[in-house]
Amino acid sequence: MSSTAPAWGRYERLMPAEIERIHAAQPVAYLPWGALEYHGKHAAVGLDGLKAHGLCVQLAQAVGGLVLPPVYVAANTIKFAPGLNHKRHSLNFSEETLRILAREHFEQLADEQFRVVFTLCGHVGQPHYDIIKDEAAKFNATQSDTRIIATSETDLIDKDIVIVNHAALGEVSFLMHTDPDCVDLARLPADRVPTLEDDAVWGPDPRPSSAEKGATYAAAFVTSASKLIHETLKSL
Ligand SMILES: [Zn+2]
Repeated sequence: MSSTAPAWGRYERLMPAEIERIHAAQPVAYLPWGALEYHGKHAAVGLDGLKAHGLCVQLAQAVGGLVLPPVYVAANTIKFAPGLNHKRHSLNFSEETLRILAREHFEQLADEQFRVVFTLCGHVGQPHYDIIKDEAAKFNATQSDTRIIATSETDLIDKDIVIVNHAALGEVSFLMHTDPDCVDLARLPADRVPTLEDDAVWGPDPRPSSAEKGATYAAAFVTSASKLIHETLKSL
């Protein structure tokens, strides 16, 4: 690592002096927001948080700042999706709990004097995603010292590269890039295209997923998210 590399770290692993050094260099917090949710037989239930955390680490290496551990509390998971029968392997929390957790994370991180809190929603079930964005907007309206950014990877990446999906080509490639041991493509059906009803796959066929594709998606994410954070810091 060169002396010009941005200062960054994983918040929960650091002692106060290290946190203060990184905060002084770059007062940006990264808050990956995941879910414990069924993502088919071929992917770990923590996909959304693992993906968001891995992307935040890669982004922090480019921009600097402190990466929080993922929040694994989600509402609106596949467990209660109408017309589907994927009832196992998801922890589904209430929208009220989600709202409180979002608000209190923003308040506490502002109290720790972060100027930007980059909240990356790995789970974009609705209204889960809109609730986090709504709490961010409400918090931003109350003060001007801290800006909360609430977004998701697919909102930052060109739709020609990756589109919003569940356990499909995009998400699985991301996970193969960040946490390769959390994917097993051999558990996908070999003789037919996976479906939402049978396989919890929504979006492009995940069978050609690869770590290389995930790395390409992640690079596009880092380019776009870095720009957004730098612009936000400049606007303060
Ligand atoms: Zn997901």
